[in-house]
Amino acid sequence: MTLGKEKINYLNIPTPLHRLDRISEDLGINLYLKRDDITNFGTGGNKLRKLEYFVKDALDQGATCLVTVGGAQTNHGRLTASVAAKYGMKAVIVAVDPYPGEISANLLLDGIMGCDVYLVQEDGVHTEDELLQAQVDRITAEMEAKGEKVYYIPMGGSNELGILGYYDCALELAEQTKSMGLDDVRVVTTVGSMGTYMGLAVGIANEELPLRLTGVSILPNELSAKETAEEYFDRVKAFYNLELEMNADSFDITEDYIYGAYNNPVKEVRDAIYYMGRKEGIIMDPCYTGKAFCGLLDMVKKGIIKKGENVVMIHTGGIPGIYTKHHRVEFERELEKYIHIV
Ligand SMILES: *Cc1c(COP(=O)(O)O)cnc(C)c1O
Repeated sequence: MTLGKEKINYLNIPTPLHRLDRISEDLGINLYLKRDDITNFGTGGNKLRKLEYFVKDALDQGATCLVTVGGAQTNHGRLTASVAAKYGMKAVIVAVDPYPGEISANLLLDGIMGCDVYLVQEDGVHTEDELLQAQVDRITAEMEAKGEKVYYIPMGGSNELGILGYYDCALELAEQTKSMGLDDVRVVTTVGSMGTYMGLAVGIANEELPLRLTGVSILPNELSAKETAEEYFDRVKAFYNLELEMNADSFDITEDYIYGAYNNPVKEVRDAIYYMGRKEGIIMDPCYTGKAFCGLLDMVKKGIIKKGENVVMIHTGGIPGIYTKHHRVEFERELEKYIHIV
């Protein structure tokens, strides 16, 4: 129970926290990785922590179907499909995206878990939000006419309830770093729909945990990331009646590593992925963790992250993204030289 809300406990936690010895030596920092990529359903990832709260709320309301939205390759949708299967519910993903020409990566995993995916096509008239809303309304009405009870989860699971998964993770991490004798720890995480970052930020502040948080934004926002965070925090504060005071300046989020667009292929990001793979044998994804790690490397280079610092990066998952066509073709071009036909 956190901030008065209950969850279902299905996660294999605490997730491992281990030192990346070879990269630490290279960079002159103490770098640890929090392995939220190896959580236990649907190939793992950060959304499973949020979903412990959503599934509880959905089951309490008698829901039989989880409906959520995102891009065609949403990791959040894939993990929603996994817990829906686990708890005997249907799952539906609604995305505004063209058909990618193949059923690969998350789309393939969604299908394996029996989740319907609706790919809504742009009509040149309505905004993406309007298109999503219209389809969600239509599908919900259709399902409810068949006797299903629909529970809606917003994009990325990032609403007031969705912060609690990473509020809990902040407590878990503080416990782990304490038992490892680490002090003055900087936590680095990817910022997408921001529920992960906000959960950690509110958890750290509200529980007065000895952790500092740095977010790496991977998508352009209408407002700045810090202003978006302030707005999100105000909703969280009102929802839980928190005493905390936080504003845009309370949030450390860099927007220097967006590289123009969400989920675009980026050479520097692939280089960071190769570096992690070749030094530590750990795979990062091209949309989220690869960008954040690329940012971490640059912040070390620029002295923003100082020599000798204790740094924990959260591996939030997303590995299926490597197999999406627009990333895969770039990898293939660069990795062809590793194939030897003899
Ligand atoms: C969704 C996601 C994130 C970002 O989490 P938010 O809570 O949306 O900010 C990071 N990494 C991966 C792999 C994700 O799927």
